[in-house]
Amino acid sequence: MIVNTCGFIDAAVQESLDAIGEALAENGKVIVTGCLGVREKTIKEVHPAVLAITGPHDTPGVMNAVHAHLPPKPHDPYTDLVGVKLTPPHYAYLKISEGCNHRCTFCIIPSMRGDLVSRPIGEVMQEAENLVKAGVKELLVISQDTSAYGVDVKYRTGFVKGKPTKTRMVDLCRALGELGVWVRLHYVYPYPHVDEVLPLMAEGKILPYLDVPFQHASPRILKLMRRPANAEKVLERIRGWRAICPEITIRSTFIAGFPGETEQEFSELLAFLDEAQLDRVGCFAYSPVEGAAANQLPDPVPAELREERQARFMQAQERISAQKLKRKVGTTLEVLVDEPGVGRSSADAPEIDGVVRFEGARVAARPGEFRNVLVERSDAHDLFGRLR
Ligand code: SF4
Repeated sequence: MIVNTCGFIDAAVQESLDAIGEALAENGKVIVTGCLGVREKTIKEVHPAVLAITGPHDTPGVMNAVHAHLPPKPHDPYTDLVGVKLTPPHYAYLKISEGCNHRCTFCIIPSMRGDLVSRPIGEVMQEAENLVKAGVKELLVISQDTSAYGVDVKYRTGFVKGKPTKTRMVDLCRALGELGVWVRLHYVYPYPHVDEVLPLMAEGKILPYLDVPFQHASPRILKLMRRPANAEKVLERIRGWRAICPEITIRSTFIAGFPGETEQEFSELLAFLDEAQLDRVGCFAYSPVEGAAANQLPDPVPAELREERQARFMQAQERISAQKLKRKVGTTLEVLVDEPGVGRSSADAPEIDGVVRFEGARVAARPGEFRNVLVERSDAHDLFGRLR
């Protein structure tokens, strides 16, 4: 078994260690890869029996370990490991870059994955086309910082089907928008140039969906986090996005209980939430991951209070989400079917957002099909309706 790990926050480290333990108990032959792999000692201390530990993006290392520990057998082009897609056949993640140039004080990703390295645009588009040819209906663009795409190569011009195309987010979105499938953008840092992709959303070229991790709203906390954004400007930007593309779904993530966060600053965050009326929101209680600069900050918030603030934050957002979803009752939405009776609209990314549950229709809707659903009911996260 190969366990792909995450080392982002302590909770993720624990989850990864638990998964390795489960795999060892199930099967006994375990190769560890991914971010936590760089902390070999941590893994070995808890699980000395793992066969090999490799780091992030080390496919050759994983393959060497597999070959070293699997009995030799004749090459079989149909069953040999050549690259495995872990998502269902109808959607896929498209990774456009690796690493990050920011140094947010709560995050150790740059120390594990290094500075931003953008993949050449021609290569990204080739992968996207191959996925679409293989039946993928939705591409989820991911990276550590999608809006920084191409900064490291000075937006170098590459070639997409022989046409010169810049290594830049908006150019990538335009090219992806020609593939005729859903394109969803994740981890978009709120830079001003993000505004450039909004017209593509309004024209229906890419999904009207932006996942923008704002993290906080208090200027002092944002500064301590070493995040550039300013709440007022962010609200202005959100208003601007909605003016260009009124149907946009905005998703974000926040941290509650960051070191030094006062009750007043937490209230500022709640007020921002109320004002911004975001569609989808996740909130983490601050987790002091080993090696993060934020751990040195004064006045850490006690764990209980961090959890309590996170719960208050999520309650506040639940009310907003319920109200927003209620407004969709009576409308007809196009959904991509994930499984019988369950689909997702443009507002729902897989795994992290809600779903659209549906009944009806003489012809069953199969996974990977686009169908229209008349929304009849809603709750805090999901919609319920009938196939049209
Ligand atoms: S932008 Fe994201 S990946 Fe980069 S340092 Fe900040 S939190 Fe980490």
